[in-house]
Amino acid sequence: MTEKKLSVGFIGLGIMGQHMAGHILAAGHPLNIYNRTRAKGDALVARGAKWCDGPGAVAEASDITITIVGYPADVEQIYLSEGGLIAKARPGSVLIDMTTSSPALAAKIAQVALARGVSALDAPVSGGDIGAKAGKLAIMLGGDPESFERVLPVLELMGGNIALMGKAGAGQHTKMANQIAIASTMLAVAESISYADAAGLEPMQVLKVIGTGAASSFLLNGLGPKMVDEDFAPGFFIHHFVKDMTIALNEAERLGLDLPGLALARSLYLKLVDEGFGEEGTQALYRAYNAIHAEAR
Ligand code: NAP
Repeated sequence: MTEKKLSVGFIGLGIMGQHMAGHILAAGHPLNIYNRTRAKGDALVARGAKWCDGPGAVAEASDITITIVGYPADVEQIYLSEGGLIAKARPGSVLIDMTTSSPALAAKIAQVALARGVSALDAPVSGGDIGAKAGKLAIMLGGDPESFERVLPVLELMGGNIALMGKAGAGQHTKMANQIAIASTMLAVAESISYADAAGLEPMQVLKVIGTGAASSFLLNGLGPKMVDEDFAPGFFIHHFVKDMTIALNEAERLGLDLPGLALARSLYLKLVDEGFGEEGTQALYRAYNAIHAEAR
């Protein structure tokens, strides 16, 4: 007899969510979906997903409900509002927030959910739209080990490297460590290309050489060529990265830590937002250096 698949709810069908939800559907789970803009669910509905009229309706219909929306404010509204996920979730079900959000909010959600007999895990991801499409995201979790084990087979449909990092909020703290590493690496990649260009080298050729040496990284090899080509289409929005760096800086301050690389990266990205580039991809940081170049020439 074939085992009955758990029903899964999925809220947030943007750049990341549409691929992640697609893998769950492809594995044969009944999928209940909701997104602020309905049209983004059309392709999944055409493949057999069931559209629900709000987060509460998704939770009522699902054994596991996954969210990957934009900002902590979106998460708070979806989980904690009247008629939201926690109010409507089936007792014994598991809620998983994969949005990059605040560790304190994750801890609060887990506590409120527990009081209703529902488990909530924070499970932010890394690997970008490419990792989401390939089902190869790194997934970092905070929450109780029993719920983690229960949802692991579903998480494995979206990611290759999945780790429980500690209690509620630990997944978001791990993601902040990730974003801090990315912030300074983005500066380094943009500066390296900018220097190569100013020195009269062919930047793409430089990337091909240094991309196999000690400077090699996912960002240098993946986003470096896009900087050279001035292809600033979003895989990861600048406005989302500014949100992440702001959460990380606030957490660092709370911990009594000074992180100058992170602060510098955030200030350059904020300038790009002010100039109207918040909807571009994070590789558009190169614009800041182009401008610096143009002034120097
Ligand atoms: P996105 O394309 O903006 O997707 C977010 C989706 O959530 C949108 O479709 C949005 O609806 C929906 N949404 C927002 N608030 C909602 C609400 N209250 N109710 C229902 N739906 C709501 O962003 P993304 O790139 O997929 O990123 C999603 C999250 O993952 C962000 O926190 C981001 O920082 C994080 N992340 C992104 C990447 C990446 O490379 N893109 C990598 C790792 C982590 P609309 O369609 O109406 O806008």
